[in-house]
Amino acid sequence: MANRIEINNDLRPAYYDDFRCLAAGCRYSCCKGWRISFNKKDYLSLKRQEGSEEFNARMDHGLRRIRKGPLTDIHFGEFDMDGGVCPLLREDCLCDLQVEKGHGALPEVCRVFPRSKAYMASGYLERSLSPACEGVLELLWELPEGIEFRSDPLPKADQKFLTFHEGQSLAVFFPHIREWCVDVLQDRRCPLAKRILMMGIALRELADGEEDVAAWLLRARALAERGAEGLPEAEGAAALPLMLSNHFRTLLQLQTAGTEFASVPGDVSRGLDVKGEAGTSRVTISLERYQAARARYEENFRDREYFMENLMVSLFFHLRLPVLSSAEELWKGYVNFCNLYSFYHFMAVMSCREGAAGDKAELYRMMVCASRGLIHNGARQSSLRDEFFANDSATLAHMAILLGG
Ligand code: SF4
Repeated sequence: MANRIEINNDLRPAYYDDFRCLAAGCRYSCCKGWRISFNKKDYLSLKRQEGSEEFNARMDHGLRRIRKGPLTDIHFGEFDMDGGVCPLLREDCLCDLQVEKGHGALPEVCRVFPRSKAYMASGYLERSLSPACEGVLELLWELPEGIEFRSDPLPKADQKFLTFHEGQSLAVFFPHIREWCVDVLQDRRCPLAKRILMMGIALRELADGEEDVAAWLLRARALAERGAEGLPEAEGAAALPLMLSNHFRTLLQLQTAGTEFASVPGDVSRGLDVKGEAGTSRVTISLERYQAARARYEENFRDREYFMENLMVSLFFHLRLPVLSSAEELWKGYVNFCNLYSFYHFMAVMSCREGAAGDKAELYRMMVCASRGLIHNGARQSSLRDEFFANDSATLAHMAILLGG
């Protein structure tokens, strides 16, 4: 039997309304270091644009058709990012297209970033912001009390019905399950890593086939009430060398070459005194250097623990978690989230590595680098997550170790 829900409201983190592009003040402009491609409609619209002589010259040289590769309907055209920089980006860091033709002339990818929206089983059109933008990180930094959510009615033209089919029984409970997860992520009675572990303990029951979601919710709330009490102690220290080499390998796979983050792997390598063959398991990393960096991170950002909470809450929402299309996908989504937390934590610690400034600017550099490499690359997220399953390391016990690092 199919279930139908009407979506006539939106839902967004309250800070969504405060987002403003940093424009010329942005150090890691989204006009640099990415492949900027667009669909046929945007390509044809760009082809028709005419302006000043300089603008026309930029367009003539900078806009091209994509003739090879998959999904050419969606990726129909692109800007020629010669040197990793959009050809329309001016010396004053403003977009020539926007300056001459206005915001409406931008291809959709440029118009919406870092925003994203989706009609969801929560019964809302959900809007979110990607942490791959420094302007978004700054908003998260300014929220010591945590993230609040806001909702408004949708205009008639944006309202729509969503249908669930048999086999998606868990999806019907998405709003309740997600609300519990976000509440746990924001429950400051225990450390963030423990909260994520607690979430895993509860979600594992659903992944194991629990269908009585009302009874599950009662148990999940009782679990949250107990706080850290009774949660397994993670043996993170013993697994630290392996975890560090995995994270370092992930960093090398982020393909930062030719981008503004090209120097990050080298910086981290020197900070951790990495020796051996890069990209293989035959590297050694100085544990003392890592532990010193972690101590410095905990000291420098002692009053900013909420920042990582805000980051993970906003990611949970932005990635539309938990995935409830099936029990298997639910657990895969959780494993992915644990891995993201662990990698972001590693990168945050690396902002305080030996030789680094250990300040907010360096923290943002690491966070934007991690986000651009992972959050906007679903294939890379999947392959990292699938490695856990291939190595039989996707169990709750392994997640506890990962979170304990
Ligand atoms: S990354 Fe964010 S702040 Fe920077 S130019 Fe893009 S939208 Fe603006």
